[in-house]
Amino acid sequence: MTDLLIHDGIVVTVDHENRLLKNGSVRVSDGTISSVEPTEPADRRSTAEHVIDASGKVVIPGLIDAHRHTDFTLVQGLFSELAGDELLKEAFALYHTAESTLGDDFFDAAWRLACLRQLTHGVTTVNAMDFTPELGAEAIGETGLRGVIGPELADFLTPASAAEQLADARRFIETYHDTFEGRVTASIAPGGEAGCSRTLWEGVAELRADYPDLRLHTHLYDSAVANTMAAGSGTDDPLDLLDRYDLLDERTLLTHLLHAGRDDAKRIADAGAHVLHCPTVYSYFQAGTQTWFPLPALQEFGANVVIGLDDPFWFDSWDLIQESKHARLLANFEYGAQQWSSYDLLKMLTIDAARALGLDGKIGSLEPGKRADLVVIDVNTPRHQPYSNLPSVLMNTVTAGDVETVVVEGDILMEDQSIESMDVESVQAAAIRERERFQRRTGWETSLAGSTPPDRSILRRVSGRLLLRAIKQYGRGVVNQHL
Ligand SMILES: [Zn+2]
Repeated sequence: MTDLLIHDGIVVTVDHENRLLKNGSVRVSDGTISSVEPTEPADRRSTAEHVIDASGKVVIPGLIDAHRHTDFTLVQGLFSELAGDELLKEAFALYHTAESTLGDDFFDAAWRLACLRQLTHGVTTVNAMDFTPELGAEAIGETGLRGVIGPELADFLTPASAAEQLADARRFIETYHDTFEGRVTASIAPGGEAGCSRTLWEGVAELRADYPDLRLHTHLYDSAVANTMAAGSGTDDPLDLLDRYDLLDERTLLTHLLHAGRDDAKRIADAGAHVLHCPTVYSYFQAGTQTWFPLPALQEFGANVVIGLDDPFWFDSWDLIQESKHARLLANFEYGAQQWSSYDLLKMLTIDAARALGLDGKIGSLEPGKRADLVVIDVNTPRHQPYSNLPSVLMNTVTAGDVETVVVEGDILMEDQSIESMDVESVQAAAIRERERFQRRTGWETSLAGSTPPDRSILRRVSGRLLLRAIKQYGRGVVNQHL
């Protein structure tokens, strides 16, 4: 029994043979792809429960955002014109005052709006790291999307102690891992060498031993003083830090690596760890020494590199395809042209990202046996026609406005740009209400022309306790340099 049949589409499978069907049909039964074959005349008369005529349109696997934070979705526009060091200070203030100041309604509205934006951009799976993972799991689960969610562990960034955060993470894993028909899973997500104390790393190692099937998702080498930060935990550099706690292997996801070198790239590739690259945030805001991640060395040693949006609310873009475009342009600018082909980028947003998340047996390509996560994109318009080299059209020309239909686990979440799985009006109303409440509570002033952060004295008062904790471990010089 076929539940869903998509016929006459240009099907880009991203499978092992890189099959590209000019006129293809995708059949789905019980959430699983049962066949991907050339369209037969009978397909057009199919009695499947749901039939989509994709003539002139492209069918690709659902896109995967490999690294994202979601908690502050509602602050869009506040940070857009700040300098890098200002951004860090304001973000720091937000991260450890928001929970007590704003409460769950603010974060729930943020997650729902994020799901809506994710869906309309064709992103079916997100790998998230957040301080409100329970709200995220509920939002992702209820809206039909797929997510790997890591409770962010960072005792230098938020008021809760390492022990409290670790206990919360364990509770989250026990409650939400492998829920919502398997669409929601958990990861272990220490913030990185800069945000975590030695006590916290020890607890992370225990979690890893207790939950060996989970991904370890962290930031690494995102600061010029990364080695000094690692020294604060008693190791020579950030990779040594992971090694010491037995955390560096093929289940490890490393975000940024901006200040990593050739030797680090080799260690990462040899370990089989995956690299999550988020180009926009570091080119939009220059924070600290200008540098770029060691792509040529990672390519030479064969590391899996994939792409994430990181903090869409700081630079105001939720478009993952644009993010991959930035990745290519910035890599070419730094290292010379042709660092990636268009098809390489498409694989990074689909099958390579699925491999990083350990989900490549389930999603990431269109082939029989995999769960039906897919996107239909309309390229049959003067904005795209005429064309050749479809991967280049997908990675250079297509925007979210071209995403027509989104399917996860065989369920149609958006069809012809009409959202089926969410109440768009109530999501928007809650977001507006909570954003206004945020502004009243925090003192951010906004107008159509821009935004002004609240009085700095508030920041100094609330951050004092955490800064003291960080200074105790790393020394004042390092803390000043990092902030
Ligand atoms: Zn991040």
